[in-house]
Parts: sequence; structure tokens; C-alpha cells
Amino acid sequence: MPKCSQCDRPALYAIGGQQIPLCLQCGAIHQSVVDRQLAALERQVETALDDMEMVSGMKLPGRRRPSPPVILPGATFHNINIKNSNVGVVNTGELHQVDTAVSVIGNQGEPQLAGALKALTEAVVASTAMDAAARQETIELLSALGSEATVQKAQRRAGVARPLLGRLRELLSVAADLSSVAQVAVPIIAAAFGAQ
Ligand SMILES: [Zn+2]
Repeated sequence: MPKCSQCDRPALYAIGGQQIPLCLQCGAIHQSVVDRQLAALERQVETALDDMEMVSGMKLPGRRRPSPPVILPGATFHNINIKNSNVGVVNTGELHQVDTAVSVIGNQGEPQLAGALKALTEAVVASTAMDAAARQETIELLSALGSEATVQKAQRRAGVARPLLGRLRELLSVAADLSSVAQVAVPIIAAAFGAQ
């Protein structure tokens, strides 16, 4: 039986044109990301139709389905430890991206960098000093930096990473409960891009 491309479990699905093997758990996460993208697309279409009605003054018939609720499944991560009570405070898709980056970076022989990404992400999700918007933005930054760091060091784009690192430091600096983990983790992440 083929193995999941994301973890050690047996693969049950083959995803996309490239037939990427995924296990039941990773497949469920993938499906939840796809569902959320479709829901967002549906909301965009509804908004566009609203605009057309407003401009034309004509009521368009035969639509207006209420958006389906966005269901967050029991998110399973291979590296990042998220308390159940914290699942749903940030976009699970972004967290999954960080989680995948932590796996790849760890497998590529940079455990310190993988550990820094993991520790900082866990601390941000659990932070009580950060408001929801700042938390979501910080996780987005970590997921972008994590993805950038999954290639070999020589191929990493310092020019892409630098502004992300700057904004990351800014967001972390106002959350008192993150200062000690940030002090250790941020320089490690910055060094991965040859930055300070
Ligand atoms: Zn898997």
C-alpha cells in the first residue's frame, strides 16, 4: 500500500492530476481546505450578483442559497500541538501549511529551524495577549515564511522574507506573552534567509 505523502500512514486517496497520495486524516484536512475555498468563491459570486442587482435595479431570480456553514473538522497536525479549545481561532489551512513546512524542513536536516517555526506557531495560537486579527496575520506570516524555507537555503528568497520578518517582529513585539519564545525563534527563522 502506498504511503501518505505527508505522514507515515497508508494512503487512501490520490489527489489531483499529480495523484499525490494522502491518508484518511491528511485527506480530510485537504478536503476541508478545498471546501473553504469553494465557500469563499461562492460568497464572492453572491457579492458580485448583489452588486449587479444594485446597479441594474433588477432582482435576479433563482438564486440566494444561504452560504453553507464553514465546518472546522478536528484538525490533525503532525508537528504542531494545538489545544482543542484553540482550534478554530485561526484558519486551519494556514496552520496545516506551517505544519507541512515543519515536516519538510525537519526532513531536510534543519531541526532547529523546524523547531523554531513549531514553537512560535504554537505560542501564537495559544497567546492571550494577541487579538484575533493579529493572531491570524502572524500565522499567515509564519506559513509564508515556512513555505519559503522549504527549499534549499541557497534558493530561499531573502527579498521576499525580509518584509515578512519585519512585520512578524512588529506583531510579536506587542504581545507580552510571546516575548521569550520570539527572542529565541525569530533570529533562527531570520538566519534561515541570511537575515538578522
Ligand atoms: Zn497523512
